[in-house]
Amino acid sequence: MFISKNGSLCPVCEKGELKKIKKNLTFKYKNKKKEFQNKTIFECDLCSHEILSQKVNRTIEKELTDFRRGVDGLLLGDQLESIRKGLNLNKRQMAALLSVNEKTVGRYENGKITQSKQINNLYRIFQNFPFVANTLRPDISILISSFGEYIIKTRKKYKYSPELAGQYHIKSGEYFKLKEAVNAAGY
Ligand SMILES: [Zn+2]
Repeated sequence: MFISKNGSLCPVCEKGELKKIKKNLTFKYKNKKKEFQNKTIFECDLCSHEILSQKVNRTIEKELTDFRRGVDGLLLGDQLESIRKGLNLNKRQMAALLSVNEKTVGRYENGKITQSKQINNLYRIFQNFPFVANTLRPDISILISSFGEYIIKTRKKYKYSPELAGQYHIKSGEYFKLKEAVNAAGY
């Protein structure tokens, strides 16, 4: 792999020298712009070819992936992670649920790769209806509110009460979250 440093030969024109400079980097995606300020890069003094340092490349990679995800209306890396954790699944279990390679889930979360729209839809479904995840993979222990499952199945609207809470082992916060999810889904 090519390691850039101050004074090394430009890999593109093979004549110029790379100079370390600081500048604002602008990335475009589907007519939207994202700017990173004051980043160290190497620029060829002859052909002006620009190379990011490895460190800068690493630090902006996740932000850049999230920027493109935002433009495309996809969930961001941290959101994917929090949905997985909300289901009480490790990366290996989440990968099994999504039918993707074991390392892929981690790569989604740290922005090395972007999830497809189909995978993104699965995350949204699992987030709002964890029992669907459980139906797909009964062998994996997924955190489910039996109450959520119950109100969706029966399509009834319940008011929160301590009796109800005791019966379904839920807290009031969880109750309102579930109710919101059920309403949002049009039940
Ligand atoms: Zn050059």
